[in-house]
Amino acid sequence: MSHPPSPSPEASPSAALLTTLSGFLRGTRYEGSLQSLLVCRPRIDQDSPEAIFTAILESMRSNSERDALTGLLNTSALEERLASALALARRHKSKVVLLTIGILEFRDLRDSLGRKKGDWILQWLAQQLRAVVRKEDILARDQNEFILGMAVSKVEDVEYIVSKLKDIFSHIVPMMEEHVLISLMIGASIYPNDGNNVDDLIAKSQTAMRRSPGGCQYQFFSDEMQRGAKDRLQMVQDIRDGLDRGEFAVYYQPKIDLLTGTILGFEALVRWLHPEKGMISPSVFIPVAEESGLVIPLGTFVLRTACIQLKRWHDMGHLHLHMAVNMASQQLRDDAIVQVVEEILAETRLFPDRLELEITESSAMVNIEKAIQLLASLRQRGIQIAVDDFGTGYSSLSYLKRFPITTLKVDQSFVRDLPGDLDSLEIVNAIIAMGRSLGFKTVAEGVETLAQEAVLRTAGCHAVQGFLYSKPIPAQEITPLLNKSYR
Ligand code: C2E
Ligand code: MG
Ligand code: MG
Repeated sequence: MSHPPSPSPEASPSAALLTTLSGFLRGTRYEGSLQSLLVCRPRIDQDSPEAIFTAILESMRSNSERDALTGLLNTSALEERLASALALARRHKSKVVLLTIGILEFRDLRDSLGRKKGDWILQWLAQQLRAVVRKEDILARDQNEFILGMAVSKVEDVEYIVSKLKDIFSHIVPMMEEHVLISLMIGASIYPNDGNNVDDLIAKSQTAMRRSPGGCQYQFFSDEMQRGAKDRLQMVQDIRDGLDRGEFAVYYQPKIDLLTGTILGFEALVRWLHPEKGMISPSVFIPVAEESGLVIPLGTFVLRTACIQLKRWHDMGHLHLHMAVNMASQQLRDDAIVQVVEEILAETRLFPDRLELEITESSAMVNIEKAIQLLASLRQRGIQIAVDDFGTGYSSLSYLKRFPITTLKVDQSFVRDLPGDLDSLEIVNAIIAMGRSLGFKTVAEGVETLAQEAVLRTAGCHAVQGFLYSKPIPAQEITPLLNKSYR
């Protein structure tokens, strides 16, 4: 690094000024401003003292506007620039779009990787964002989030900007030892539609981001969303009460062996039998349970109930039956899961290989190393591991190879359009062929017609599950079906 020339009786006024400034700034947050000035302009000591003074002031100003980690604008500079952008938009009757960009489950990711690698992800993302925004856009970092302000002539322009960001979505961040998959969440608010001051607009785009589904989609702020937040809080409380009051039940959907036509096992699917609202679908309450952490006690309830039920059917002589239970992403990050599963297996005295845990690619990818570690330790105990909704996530074989998988479940979205849709047909054939060659069992879900069944049989699929055979139903309705043949 360059150092200012040491003062000597003959030193030029400019060199002397640099020395004085250097002493002045040492230890302050502007120390780097002088250093970088000297690096960029090594012959600055030959400029006039006035020129040096102007240069250092400029450099200090830009340093005070920048965030040290990423070099993007910091929050105070962001507020200033946004306020000017809003003033301009007010005059020209134009719009300003504010995007808040966050990384899905970033806290967990950073906890598992360590702060240094977490910082590296933020720096990498800052670099990617800088590369896609226009020079006149306002890009800042606020802790773990990025804020992008853009003057646009129409709201549809957001689509265009988001499509430019698309390449970064679900991207693999290159790192030294491991590669990390990230999924971005984007929330948008618009001046003047959602507010007319900076604070309001930032808060609204942040609220919208928290509701964003992740992946390649963004979410606009709306008043409806604010109401949504209230409803969700209420639902968290209702789930908690529901767990205490025993409002949750487990339904079972048979899986049919395509070779023999008999039931080989079940998938356990949770149901909320709400006293006033009737039956609520898991796709409504599981996301809220996940957000609030309640999916852990709920998941344990489903696991225990399903294992106790399976044991009853085993005791009736159907020892070959197995039970598949869905695992939420949070359960795959919770060290306690291994012990919980062990305890339940011990309580029910089930063979571990009769239990199958269904994970989805996206839930396993949130914290890959942890998920691999926990699943490996469950697999070691003999428990089966299925990848649910296969084909809809990253489907990255290089990742999947590292998971101790025993079963692939072909997602119902591919089965739905069989046999007519050629794309689906090819995907289904490929997944089943690949699964077989890797030694996995294959199960197709969402089978509703005999034509679909025929295609799956030809493809060599092991088992099927769907409304063609049975909807998910309570245990007492399953018992009479146990000896049924589905040929
Ligand atoms: P999933 O694990 O992929 O479950 C399959 C879903 O497809 C179930 O929806 C099932 O009822 C439905 N299904 C089965 N056969 C057919 C068919 O032939 N046609 C159609 N259209 N649908 C069919 P369900 O029960 O509403 O569950 C939705 C999702 O909620 C599940 O998807 C799973 O991701 C989650 N879920 C359910 N129970 C639990 C649970 O105990 N824990 C966790 N973490 N998630 C659960
Ligand atoms: Mg499932
Ligand atoms: Mg599924």
